[in-house]
Amino acid sequence: MNEYDVVVIGAGTGGYVAAIRAAQLGLKVAVVEKQKTLGGTCLVWGCIPTKALLEHAHALKIVQNAKEWGVSIPGDGIRLDMLQVQARKDRIVSGLTKGVEFLFKKNKIDWIKGTARLTGNGGVEVFEGDAQRLRARKEIIVATGSAPRSVPGIRIDRKRIITSDEAIGLRVVPKSIAILGSGAVGVEFASIFRRFGSEVTILELLPRLVPVEDAAVSVELAKSFRKQGITAHTGARVTSAAVTGELVEVGAQFADGSTQTIRAEYLLVATGRGPVTDGLDVDRVGLDLEKGYLKVDAQYRTNVAGISAIGDVITLGSAPHPQLAHVSSAEGIVAAERIAGLEVRPINYDHVPGCTYCDPEIGSVGLTEQEAQERGYDVRVGTFPFGVLGRAKMAGETDGFVKIVAEKKYDEVLGIHMIGPRSTELVAEATLALRLESTVEELIRTIHAHPTMAEAVGEAAHAVHGAAIHL
Ligand SMILES: Cc1cc2nc3c(=O)[nH]c(=O)nc-3n(C[C@H](O)[C@H](O)[C@H](O)COP(=O)(O)OP(=O)(O)OC[C@H]3O[C@@H](n4cnc5c(N)ncnc54)[C@H](O)[C@@H]3O)c2cc1C
Repeated sequence: MNEYDVVVIGAGTGGYVAAIRAAQLGLKVAVVEKQKTLGGTCLVWGCIPTKALLEHAHALKIVQNAKEWGVSIPGDGIRLDMLQVQARKDRIVSGLTKGVEFLFKKNKIDWIKGTARLTGNGGVEVFEGDAQRLRARKEIIVATGSAPRSVPGIRIDRKRIITSDEAIGLRVVPKSIAILGSGAVGVEFASIFRRFGSEVTILELLPRLVPVEDAAVSVELAKSFRKQGITAHTGARVTSAAVTGELVEVGAQFADGSTQTIRAEYLLVATGRGPVTDGLDVDRVGLDLEKGYLKVDAQYRTNVAGISAIGDVITLGSAPHPQLAHVSSAEGIVAAERIAGLEVRPINYDHVPGCTYCDPEIGSVGLTEQEAQERGYDVRVGTFPFGVLGRAKMAGETDGFVKIVAEKKYDEVLGIHMIGPRSTELVAEATLALRLESTVEELIRTIHAHPTMAEAVGEAAHAVHGAAIHL
């Protein structure tokens, strides 16, 4: 039996960050991971490979508009080499997973290769790999993450009816692809494949694209997708999907009651992810579950003493828990610090930034206009379009805007929502503003360098007070 202070199960962005923080604080740590590499969904199947593909799509966009940039491409025109695209993406992924291995060595964390199950009283049994028994003197952190899930009536065959796990590895650009779901994963793949040359059809059950975003962002994205030739059906219930030869026939029913069969080479099911607890023996140790998620308190303690849980596998019981890499890492740090005996503060989930790397990009943090109204604030908003900004014109990226949601009484900023160039970077300023409980006036008085995309944030603040300079 090998003894550690902390045993982490799962080496995703939750687990590996928790392990490093615990080791930094002087604890002896082991991490059990069943995959061949460290990094979990984010590094191997999620954030990193998708954003690498999106960078390829962006490079292709520049090349496709070469004339506008004054660049001529002689010869037989533009051709995308998917094998090269995949090879570059794989190099990026493996560089980063090896980086985590290096950090484990640096912090003297033992990586135990295998699948773990809980045996009670601090015990963990590793099987299907380096079989052994471990004991956590202080705490076990369960960070087993999530996996793609489908909707009733749709059977994922991983060949034609696929998930993001298969979509990131396609070595040929599909002639056509239907995408079920318009959350971050759905719209990111829509942007990738449309730019690569596919006919893309999105089917979204709810009345608007990216339904968790501010409604104005959804409208802008729909407009931009239309211009790019992406077909998006909202209020569309997918009722069936059948593979016939090389095609998937997708049955859809629309809000007005009409039905349609959409034929595409692939159906990508992007309807969200469910928790991974199979084989962990959660029942044996008596862990409380809610819809399959592990229930935790604000310091990530489960109902069983000595077992914590973080990341995509948890529920906090109240609002839906954001399944995001940076959320899992932040939770890992809080859990590790609490286990090491530091005083910790609960995470404010209203201040979690969300980024969607579709074209145009979306970055948002805090309350949407509707949420602010529902919470009873006296709301006022200000919006500034990228279209009039010098830097956006230079980049040839003029779609979108920054919208600030604030309240009248204290002038407090409640949320910042943006769609347009570099929004996934600009959201960092917005997140800090919320963290510091900034007023609109403070954002106005913050000097934004010229010419930058960030000027749109300052101008949107001016717009809240009805005084945007360049509008
Ligand atoms: C296509 C896609 C794109 C995404 N893009 C973004 C993005 O841009 N930004 C963002 O913030 N988030 C993004 N996400 C979400 C992000 O990847 C997850 O929120 C994050 O990976 C969750 O981290 P985690 O540590 O909780 O779990 P995971 O990363 O899922 O890690 C869990 C690990 O536990 C291991 N494991 C499970 N059970 C056991 C067991 N019994 N024994 C041993 N090991 C086990 C698994 O093999 C896995 O490695 C994306 C997700 C997808 C699918």
